[in-house]
Amino acid sequence: MLPSFDEIDAALFPLFLERDAIATDCTEKVLDAMRKFRLSDRHFAWQTGYGYDDEGRTILESIYAEVFGAKSGLVRTQIVSGTHAISLALRSVVEDGSRLLLASGMPYDTILPTFGFTGAFKQSLKARNVQIDICKLKEDGGIDELCLNEKLDLKPDIVYVQRSCGYEFRPALSIDDIAYIVDAAKAKNPDTLVIVDNCYGEFVERREPSDVGANLVCGSLIKNPGGGLALSGGYIVGDEALVNACADVLTAPGLGKDLGLSFGTTRSILQGLFIAPSVVAGAIKGAMFAAELFSSRNYEVCPGAKDRRGDIIQAIKLGDEKKLSEFCAAIQENSPVNSYVRPVPGPLPGYDVDVLMAAGTFVQGASIELSADAPIREPYYVYLQGGLTYYHTRLAAIRALAAIENI
Ligand SMILES: *Cc1c(COP(=O)(O)O)cnc(C)c1O
Repeated sequence: MLPSFDEIDAALFPLFLERDAIATDCTEKVLDAMRKFRLSDRHFAWQTGYGYDDEGRTILESIYAEVFGAKSGLVRTQIVSGTHAISLALRSVVEDGSRLLLASGMPYDTILPTFGFTGAFKQSLKARNVQIDICKLKEDGGIDELCLNEKLDLKPDIVYVQRSCGYEFRPALSIDDIAYIVDAAKAKNPDTLVIVDNCYGEFVERREPSDVGANLVCGSLIKNPGGGLALSGGYIVGDEALVNACADVLTAPGLGKDLGLSFGTTRSILQGLFIAPSVVAGAIKGAMFAAELFSSRNYEVCPGAKDRRGDIIQAIKLGDEKKLSEFCAAIQENSPVNSYVRPVPGPLPGYDVDVLMAAGTFVQGASIELSADAPIREPYYVYLQGGLTYYHTRLAAIRALAAIENI
């Protein structure tokens, strides 16, 4: 007998409680940061021009740094995306001719040109003679400790870590994994800087990479930490001198963090941060529900419903192109915005195959809202993520299953 939807909820209930406990602790961090810096409604007002005295922006950046356990933050709509945040961090602190280790395998596709793996950009690390080494993760997504320790003996100047799985069928790194990498790197060379792509990882655990010693941590405001309310932007948090270096590249040497108008976005970014722990918990509960639902119907899923989670992504192996297309169509059809649109596969920079993307979101491209992506290739994995509420993700997953069962 197949479990009913309510039976799936019941089976996951203890894990849902654990999610609520994490969200409670993360909410406490956010609340206390807002209290500590005496956030006031005055900080939601805004000026014009250079933004010299943009108090809201300053408070926003202090609150972000505090929440992430970092010394300093750069939180801006002038950082246009997660890719920009990561690329900015790398280009700001990696010196010409230095040595860099990719500690969690090949990075996410959109960062490849920054490293110089694709394209031919003068600003790439490769063009600046940075020597890049790589340690792949093991089959099960764990750290290859042997490789890591061998490559760390070469004393890299920078170690780069990606927390989320991206488009791979493997679990995300845990904060313990990241702590292991940081400790191993610093034990061999205390001056090694660790830079983390934190996309999709925020508030999944109680601690963030900066809490365990990462020097710079980067992400997107239209993913987890924006809570679905931030309209655009990216963040970098970390050591003060390094964050200042990023600001000098974002604006100009000598201008740094002092300029850059917030355009009245501080209220939505902070309100989004305030609800982000709850939104992330809801998204993960939705992912767990989808994992249990689809595995009960014999689809392979990653992570499993009851597995440890390091990000909000749920991969499902559909095994069939038609099912992939119907699944994504059903997710789109059950979205609050653009529900009448049928998503079609299209080319995406960095991919050798077309990619199908379903997203009917209030904020364009926001993947903290429910969305499904799928590169059109065997064995036809779909990557489901986000959901502003658990109830929406649950409903859409049930309807997506019905759509592919009818084929
Ligand atoms: C989303 C994502 C990024 C960057 O995303 P943007 O779309 O540029 O904001 C980087 N790394 C990972 C793992 C991601 O999931």
